[in-house]
Amino acid sequence: MQRVGNRQASRRHDGSGPLTFWFETLCIVTAVAAILAHLYRLWQHRHDLSLWMLAAILLAWLAADFVSGLVHWLADTWGSEAFPILGPRFIKPFRVHHVTPNSFLECNLVDTNGDTSLVALPVLTALWMIPLSHPMGLFSLTFGVAFCAMAIPTNQIHQWAHMRRPPGWVRWLQRRGLILSHREHARHHALPHEGHYCITTGFCNQWLEKIKFFRCLEAIVTRLTGVRPRLEEEQSRSYVRTVASRQP
Ligand SMILES: [Zn+2]
Ligand SMILES: [Zn+2]
Repeated sequence: MQRVGNRQASRRHDGSGPLTFWFETLCIVTAVAAILAHLYRLWQHRHDLSLWMLAAILLAWLAADFVSGLVHWLADTWGSEAFPILGPRFIKPFRVHHVTPNSFLECNLVDTNGDTSLVALPVLTALWMIPLSHPMGLFSLTFGVAFCAMAIPTNQIHQWAHMRRPPGWVRWLQRRGLILSHREHARHHALPHEGHYCITTGFCNQWLEKIKFFRCLEAIVTRLTGVRPRLEEEQSRSYVRTVASRQP
């Protein structure tokens, strides 16, 4: 059992090499600069802004949480760590996180926020194409910028939810449900990791669980493809059980 335990415990998050570190730093700096530039564009049209912009921000707050759940569910449920590029870069970190949740705390600021910044860059670039001469353009840009500003720190918020003592202002935000709390996220970490996937604010979790949103999606995917959800994780768990049962 000891060897199996060690094998499982040795699954940790990969750190980044110097090249990845500088590339991720560049992604974070560029994403933050793009958000500031878009905010400046909105400021230039401040006289045309209306209460609809508040609705756009609220919608973005919900959408960022929902998309975080959808992406998390995809990585937890389908595919294999052996897939080229996507496997080690996207799927493996989610699976490793189930085995050794606290090794995520060893990731530095750049490791934690680099990937989400990279993914947000095409969206932030596309936002430049929105014409601001029409109220709908202002609404769309407000939504897009707010969405990126809330989605980029998702991994950071997730990491804070694992900390025993996060900074005081983070605890304040967690207590008010403005970002994911430790308590809400602990529900996802209960075996077999089949729910509460949203990790930005966690607000959507209760509603998605109530309507069994992800179970319905899984039933549709299985019906269309014949693939069972969480196949790789199930196989790895049953492998661990089998080896453990053979230990003297
Ligand atoms: Zn998960
Ligand atoms: Zn977690």
